[in-house]
Amino acid sequence: MDLDKIQVFRKRKFRGSGNIGNATVSLWEKSRLCEKQVWGTLNANQLESVFEFLTDGFWEWDVIRNLFNFNRRFGEILGYDPGELPENPIVWEKILHSDDAVEVGGVFNTLVDSGAEDIMVEVRLRSKNGNWKWLQLRGKVVERNHKGQAIRIIGTQTDVTYQKIIEDTLKENERRLMQQNEELITFNEELAEANTQMMEINRQLLAAKEKAIESDKLKSAFLANMSHEIRTPMNGIIGFANMLNEPDLPRESIHQFVEIINSSSYQLLAIIDDIIDFSKMEAGQVVILPTVVNLSKLLNEVHSVFNLLKYEGVFLNLKLPEFNDDIWIDGVRLRQILNNLLSNAVKFTVTGEINFGYTIVEDQLRFFVSDTGIGIRSEYHDKIFDRFFQVNTVENGKNSGTGLGLSISKAIVELMGGRIWLTSDGVNGSAFYFSVPLALVNEDVVDKTSANILKPFYDWSKKTILVAEDEELNYLLLEEILGELKCKIIWVNNGAEAVKACSENTEIDLVLMDLKMPILNGYEATMRIKKIRPLLPIVAQTAYALIEDRAKALEAGCNNYISKPINKTSMVEMVNFFFKKASE
Ligand code: ADP
Repeated sequence: MDLDKIQVFRKRKFRGSGNIGNATVSLWEKSRLCEKQVWGTLNANQLESVFEFLTDGFWEWDVIRNLFNFNRRFGEILGYDPGELPENPIVWEKILHSDDAVEVGGVFNTLVDSGAEDIMVEVRLRSKNGNWKWLQLRGKVVERNHKGQAIRIIGTQTDVTYQKIIEDTLKENERRLMQQNEELITFNEELAEANTQMMEINRQLLAAKEKAIESDKLKSAFLANMSHEIRTPMNGIIGFANMLNEPDLPRESIHQFVEIINSSSYQLLAIIDDIIDFSKMEAGQVVILPTVVNLSKLLNEVHSVFNLLKYEGVFLNLKLPEFNDDIWIDGVRLRQILNNLLSNAVKFTVTGEINFGYTIVEDQLRFFVSDTGIGIRSEYHDKIFDRFFQVNTVENGKNSGTGLGLSISKAIVELMGGRIWLTSDGVNGSAFYFSVPLALVNEDVVDKTSANILKPFYDWSKKTILVAEDEELNYLLLEEILGELKCKIIWVNNGAEAVKACSENTEIDLVLMDLKMPILNGYEATMRIKKIRPLLPIVAQTAYALIEDRAKALEAGCNNYISKPINKTSMVEMVNFFFKKASE
């Protein structure tokens, strides 16, 4: 384009770009037209009409003189009347959005200084009514000085606000779509997760259903078995009791019949015990009551009982470690577990041997009962601890027993804080193990050189113990033991006196309660005392450590029991346990 043509542009006060026929004529096209000398063929009026046509603003910047020229449309786009905007580049500074200022400055600098020929930038300009409009600015250098710096630039200004709104809307829609997409993906993942959970719940339900069916079958087998188990000893008892009525029965037969009646009764009692224990377990009513126990003594007693019950030709061996200290454990429950395991060993072993005993493994007592009997296949190792489960019932429908012994044993071991397990290859016998925490009796209480002699270790001088005991001899023994520990002792010899003493004397810290007493027995007295002083510890003294006695004493409200004849260590540890608890 030559300079004259440019001058024509300037003098004419350009009116922007517009449509010619169907084609949109941009400034660049116009400049192309110029180059092709088309402009030269248009006269001033024609050129004027072309610019009138244009919908874009048109501007021209004389860089040297800093003059800024624009056509009517330039101001019109922004709502200004002709003459309202100053003809100076400052006009842009005034109405340019501050966020776009840096970009625009940069773009124009490149145009002026760095030899760029044209630029295009989209900016926000404030219109007269205060609204922002998006405008596309295009510029082209039309003249440079000898240093190559632009000295004249022309350009257009196109209103792209609508286009921007559409673009923004599209972008926003796209953003929303992406967000929705992400939400859908998350939702899908949650669905997949929920699905997995549902499948897991389904699997558990199915397993529970199968278990319920199996348990139902086991229960039916249990009931059928139970009826047989109860009837057999009952028939024995009734039948042989009737036969005792026979006249002139030889003494030997009487003896034999009584033996049968006795053993059948014990058999029946064992079944009843199992059932009662089982229901107590189910109701969560079983409590562990530790006392001081000498393990060798307890295991020797168990050995004597089972030595009579095993098959002839089977050896029953008790294996004890060197250790022979008293320990703190629930002896009654321990005996119950050993009885269950040994009854099974005896039942399923017809030749060979049964070994039982315990070892000490770290801080645990590990008991074992192993036999050379029929063994248990590995697939049953877990199941036999389920209630009612019996291998023989599953395999050939026949069995004796209740199928409760092992489930009860497992529950007791767990209540004691231990675990139970077995090993067996299913052919060469089986070995049951259970471990419970080893709790040694306070070493300072017992002088090892002469067992049961107490060192005056505990100081109970501020304590008062009420002894309810009708037998003077028994009381004297207690007085002897307690005297060493300097506590104050109050003695009453019947239940009514015990209740009276507890209600009148608030100093009493603990009661040692005999259960069989005149006027008011120990059970009744305990119930009444607990109504007045529910927190006062009451330790029952029972003649036998039978589970039923314990249960009855506990039901009445006793906190623990101690069996007679009273073991000094046992009693001191027990009483001290309650004193310690009260001071916590
Ligand atoms: P019960 O002995 O009254 O049937 P348990 O719960 O004590 O009930 O035992 C469950 C089952 O475990 C037994 O019926 C038996 O099939 C199997 N079992 C337990 N101990 C042994 C053992 N020492 N040898 C072989 N099988 C045993």
